Amino acid sequence: MSESELYDLIIIGGGPGGLTAGIYGMRAALKTAIFEMAAPGGQVNNSDSVENWPGDEHIGGAELAMRFAQHAQSYGLEIRQEEIVALEPGLEFHTVRLPDGKRLNAHAVILATGGSPRKLGIPGEDTYYGQGVSYCAVCDGFFFRDKTVVVVGGGDTAAEESLYLAKLAKQVYLVHRRDELRAGALLQQRVKAECDIEILWNTIVTDILAGPEGVRAVKLRDTQNGEARELNTDGVSIFIGFDPNNKLVPAGTRMNADGYVVTDGTCQTNTPGIYVIGDLREKYARQIVLSAADGCTAALAAAHYVESRKAKASCELPEHLVSAD
Ligand code: NAP
Repeated sequence: MSESELYDLIIIGGGPGGLTAGIYGMRAALKTAIFEMAAPGGQVNNSDSVENWPGDEHIGGAELAMRFAQHAQSYGLEIRQEEIVALEPGLEFHTVRLPDGKRLNAHAVILATGGSPRKLGIPGEDTYYGQGVSYCAVCDGFFFRDKTVVVVGGGDTAAEESLYLAKLAKQVYLVHRRDELRAGALLQQRVKAECDIEILWNTIVTDILAGPEGVRAVKLRDTQNGEARELNTDGVSIFIGFDPNNKLVPAGTRMNADGYVVTDGTCQTNTPGIYVIGDLREKYARQIVLSAADGCTAALAAAHYVESRKAKASCELPEHLVSAD
């Protein structure tokens, strides 16, 4: 195997966790590469404003993502905009495979592939995606300027995005299936205080209807009395959580029932040298700061792991020097 094909550490996914792991990996003098198909920063790029990154009371998501990437690159981190299609655990090295069949080996691999927005699975959702159906307020909010938007969900994301859309749209309807939001207390207060947001409690969206211009209405159903009605809207923004991107998780890796990977305190999976960080890892909360913390933990642990493997390898005598008796 040529030297260029062997890394100390390969990181898959360039969100806050992956980029933090890259910073710590480079600082630990590990030969490190990070693979990210889209723009570095991951989901953070979709946040209008981040208000809980310590040291920054308000910072745009895209700006924070850019700062993470610049910081990592300042150490010479190799950021490769390529897809990894498989991760194959091995005894000597772990191997990642690129779409053209090329393989790269690494002593340690950190998986930081996060999650993807969950879908409602209702008629019209896929058909009118991009024509009024959206999973990213920052990306599509401009199209809702002075219009009416239905936001679906009751968590932090739905609350944050409703507040963002309320600055642009004429009217925001926040449709939630229960009578209580899941979002944090402060966000709840702000949503309830915003006069351009009306919360439709105990309500679900059952259909998305469109005309030649795109989305024109949604069908709603009251979860308590079953009553159905139509509500005119120009867009539907869906923020009902996300599912872990676990397709690269090797078979035999311990996962919970929801598909999140279970790790030890160092973010290591049940396969030595394979770590999982950020939103893909089973944990109490999913926050930028926690993904970054995972990245730090995993890279420090990986550095220790790589060093001990190299030390062990250098102590092992070549076979021809081992005496037969
Ligand atoms: P979430 O916390 O899982 O909330 C999802 C919301 O969607 C819940 O209110 C849920 O209703 C609702 N929902 C789920 N499936 C639904 C369906 N089929 N139909 C209708 N409603 C449905 O997801 P999230 O808001 O995306 O947040 C994900 C994680 O990221 C959370 O840990 C959150 O704290 C974190 N986050 C952090 C920040 C930040 O740090 N600034 C920002 C955004 C998100 P129920 O409440 O009835 O279950």
